[in-house]
Amino acid sequence: MDRDDNSGFESGTRPAEGRDRVQKPNQNDLLEGTIMKLSTTCLALFLLAASLAARGDNALPDYPAVKITDRVWVIHGPRELPNPENKGFMNNPAFVVTSDGVAVIDPGSTLETGRMVLRQIRKVTEKPVTHVFASHIHGDHWLGNQAIREIYPAAKFFAHPVMIEQAHAGQAESWVEMMLRLTEGASKGTEAVIPDQVLEDGQEIRVGDVTFRIYLSDWAHTKTDAMVEVVEDSLLATGDNALYQRIGRMDDASFRGNIAACRQALDLKMKHYIPGHGDSGGPEVIEPFCNYLEVLYAKVAELYEEGLSDFEMKDTVVESLSAYKEWSGFSDEVGRHISLAVLEIEQAEFE
Ligand SMILES: [Zn+2]
Repeated sequence: MDRDDNSGFESGTRPAEGRDRVQKPNQNDLLEGTIMKLSTTCLALFLLAASLAARGDNALPDYPAVKITDRVWVIHGPRELPNPENKGFMNNPAFVVTSDGVAVIDPGSTLETGRMVLRQIRKVTEKPVTHVFASHIHGDHWLGNQAIREIYPAAKFFAHPVMIEQAHAGQAESWVEMMLRLTEGASKGTEAVIPDQVLEDGQEIRVGDVTFRIYLSDWAHTKTDAMVEVVEDSLLATGDNALYQRIGRMDDASFRGNIAACRQALDLKMKHYIPGHGDSGGPEVIEPFCNYLEVLYAKVAELYEEGLSDFEMKDTVVESLSAYKEWSGFSDEVGRHISLAVLEIEQAEFE
């Protein structure tokens, strides 16, 4: 350590050039300093305002994108239903980085959800989004399309033909309104960008070095479900045909069709599954949901044969489903599921 360095530790005894300047500033210094401070503050305010404007008033916080394979990431959304806190975000948007561009599966529930998804994509790649798949008609999965159209007007939006039909027939508007109501206005500004590329069952879509294989159902979780396989990565995005530790609405569903689609997903023996809601993982994340639907439907059918009404059979059915009682939505939905299963069993007698 030389003398100069050492003197640096003795500030108390040094002739205080700096201190003098602080204590007795001349007018010019003072003015300059004030302008500097003001312009720094202005710049900071300007940058803050610009970033808020870019994100909008109701911007979502960034949710982490989890890397599932070399090419596929998923952003696991909150498990609650749309509300003012989650601003409507509740699904599992996924994105696949191909050699030619990015494909997104289910970009989320609102304009801001879609923007948040794009921010996470930007952290991984600069490639443009070229393809967007909607798993089904429920707006929590696809209203984020708007954010992608906004930045990538050339991107193609794909869906089941009946999804496109239902969206144009009023479902798109209903979902926009429902989101606005449930989030108490946090989804404001969201508009439906309805897909216009019609998917076919068994279709393969090649994007760069990746093959997307499509599985459509006539009637499973809805009449509009498309599951998307990323062939090279042995990965399937099931949409709401399978959920993890969550039971959802079955109002648009067929129990038998949903069970068939869930089993079809398992029979593909993929290494990776991304369910519509809840954690991703191997087959173990979707099998319990297939089992839940099977146990419920079989038990309801059995008690229906014995002449019990939905009300009379409820306790027994719930007991047979005790393995699932901790799942999110269970106590809210199970009664409704039993009633819907009874209706389907009655209908089935006429088939
Ligand atoms: Zn759904």
